[in-house]
Amino acid sequence: MDIENPLPREIARGVFWLGDCLEQFHKGKSYHSYNAAFLLCGDDASMLIETGHPKDFPAIERQMIELLTADRPPLKYLFVTHQETPHSGGLGRVFQNWPDITVHGDVADYHLAFPQHADRLVSMEVGDEIDLGGRKLVAVEPVIRDLRTTLWGFDTGANCLFPGDGLAYSHYHQDGHCGLVAEEATSLDLEDVLAVFAERALYWTTTTDMRIYVDQLEALLDELGVETIAPTHGLPVTDLALTMPKVRDGLIAEGDPELSVRHISNVDQPEVT
Ligand SMILES: [Zn+2]
Repeated sequence: MDIENPLPREIARGVFWLGDCLEQFHKGKSYHSYNAAFLLCGDDASMLIETGHPKDFPAIERQMIELLTADRPPLKYLFVTHQETPHSGGLGRVFQNWPDITVHGDVADYHLAFPQHADRLVSMEVGDEIDLGGRKLVAVEPVIRDLRTTLWGFDTGANCLFPGDGLAYSHYHQDGHCGLVAEEATSLDLEDVLAVFAERALYWTTTTDMRIYVDQLEALLDELGVETIAPTHGLPVTDLALTMPKVRDGLIAEGDPELSVRHISNVDQPEVT
């Protein structure tokens, strides 16, 4: 990118948004999106959440080193929501820079690529937690998942949810949205930008009644008392009351409840010829 990268940015106390924009084209229009990583700093330890896309790793590495040298606790943990490249493709570089780190989440198969680091891979399930000192990262239910073994993370320090692909949407570079949180990007049409990712990354959501998933998402947000959402691809959400109703409408609009109804109807009532 030949524009100045507005990241890193602290989006909640001790939660730093890392990465850089990626330009993509969809139906003739240019969109920006993120393959973000987040640095979570406790009193005793720091954690990287997602590694970012390999193309962003030089920027993420620089952002991390700058943040970590500014009197913050050492990086001890990496949590990845799932094993796709934009989320975990920087794993080798993380091991190279921070060889004492332990890696948490679905770590199956990583020992094949990194046998020398096999003792640093820790499998995680819903309910497991990692103590950073004064705050914990807890593995929580991945309501809208990409892979079967996806996990979401929840930070108890800033009540921040890391939903991976769960809230995936682009932003408009030409409107100056780069580096803004969702509430600052006032011209962002969430229904439009959620559609780009639904078709590209979460195709199952386009053939599903998404009301079921959105209800479950809202129940999870209430149960955990989430105050900030830090999605890997979307702009962070810092005012849930303002933004989540738009996300709800966007996710439901992309789903297709009629498809399921038609399918069931066809099974139950075969055509009479
Ligand atoms: Zn951008």
